[in-house]
Amino acid sequence: MHEMSLMGEVLNIIQEDALAKGIKTLERVELVVGEVSNVLPDALVMAFEIFKEQNPHFITREAILKIHLEEARAECVLCGKVYQPEQKIAQCPDCRMPSGKVTSGETFQVLSYEGR
Ligand SMILES: [Zn+2]
Repeated sequence: MHEMSLMGEVLNIIQEDALAKGIKTLERVELVVGEVSNVLPDALVMAFEIFKEQNPHFITREAILKIHLEEARAECVLCGKVYQPEQKIAQCPDCRMPSGKVTSGETFQVLSYEGR
């Protein structure tokens, strides 16, 4: 489950940044996760709970992980049709060709975090 290492990386970066700012505990993390980013939101939440147990001095028991899903969008390079792809290699519903260029939905980023 690569969400585990991904979440670990995110928390490391946040903790480093937080310490530099004098923030000692983490209360809330907000992430943006694209629908075709190959990251499973449920697995991220599970990973967050595990890290919470492992790092209770930094991540408070009440800490929340909020995930904003970014909708997937693709545009066909042949006919220009914009549609919602089900996966990264997007087949245009009109041309029936794998000619879709994903324009949205591949994001994985930290939107914000809060602590004190
Ligand atoms: Zn097309």
